[in-house]
Amino acid sequence: MRVFNFAAGPATLPLEVLEQAQAELTDWRGSGMSVMEISHRSKAFIGVAAEAEADLRELMAIPQNYKVLFLQGGATGQFAAVPMNLATADSVVDYVNTGNWSKKAIAEAKSYCAQVNVAADSGDTKYCTVPAQDTWKLTPGAAYLHYTPNETIGGVEFPFIPQSGDVPLVADFSSSILSRPVDVSKFGLIYGGAQKNIGPSGICVVIVREDLIGRARAGTPSIWNYKEMAATDSMSNTPPTFGWYIAGLVFKWIKKNGGLAAMGERNSQKAAHLYAAIDSSGFYANPVPVAYRSWMNVPFTLAKPDLDKTFLAQAHAAGLTNLEGHRSVGGMRASIYNAMPPAGIDALIAFMQEFQRRHG
Ligand SMILES: *Cc1c(COP(=O)(O)O)cnc(C)c1O
Repeated sequence: MRVFNFAAGPATLPLEVLEQAQAELTDWRGSGMSVMEISHRSKAFIGVAAEAEADLRELMAIPQNYKVLFLQGGATGQFAAVPMNLATADSVVDYVNTGNWSKKAIAEAKSYCAQVNVAADSGDTKYCTVPAQDTWKLTPGAAYLHYTPNETIGGVEFPFIPQSGDVPLVADFSSSILSRPVDVSKFGLIYGGAQKNIGPSGICVVIVREDLIGRARAGTPSIWNYKEMAATDSMSNTPPTFGWYIAGLVFKWIKKNGGLAAMGERNSQKAAHLYAAIDSSGFYANPVPVAYRSWMNVPFTLAKPDLDKTFLAQAHAAGLTNLEGHRSVGGMRASIYNAMPPAGIDALIAFMQEFQRRHG
């Protein structure tokens, strides 16, 4: 029996995708082998990779002057690769700090750039908001401006795309990529680990404007050098072939289900439904002001925190898994990425209401 899995990442995948992968696991397209047993240099696998890229380009309407890379090392690898590729050791780089993942990106950048300017920080609201752009202290001529559109742990999402003028805008879209349409042309670089909204862990998608390629500092590892990886179609070394294949199936699933406009519509409704149930309960609470609430990650607390363990155990028994909040914040968190069906939200809300009736 499949459960509704609310894990933040690795996260639930569409059942149809898993079933297709299962059906062709031992004999992929009549080859007598699984896709993970064939060479990444084979015509067949290069076809898989090219199709995945073409589908992602179509879904996100990625302009021609951007390269799409499928890299290893996760989003955490990009925390280092971004300054190595886009900045020199003495460039100024601007960061916006809206929570845990911003902080990690900033900490890593400090190993590569002497001048990491935190242009805005929402610490005064305990990282429950996004600072208004007119309060940011941006550096004219910075090598780039980095921000985190969706803070996976805090459940805080930007309701706007920052204006960065001529400074390249860099975004860690790990937990909200493909969740709704986005205007890629506003960005210099977008990156996102696959394990939330794309596929299995092991791949990080990097979408980078061509004029930003070729600036890597000496000492940049070749597997994170955008120029090198663009020149080899992300195959300088052996890529995570199975993850790439699954990502391709997920892209097809999104296309079949109406693309990003339909995903956005569905995600907005799922989130609104869950937040409404929390707000109207008088028992559950979410600390984020409505304007900044994430569509993807919904943290909530119980009025009686001593019931947290009971809540989690009973939810698990009811087929609602991985609802514990991040260890740094406690409480609960429901991650409701593209692959979480509306029925999963309905089941969670029904469980929460019943739990409140019995224990509230
Ligand atoms: C999960 C996550 C990361 C870390 O991804 P890894 O692939 O584990 O390196 C970074 N940023 C955000 C916003 C995330 O949600």
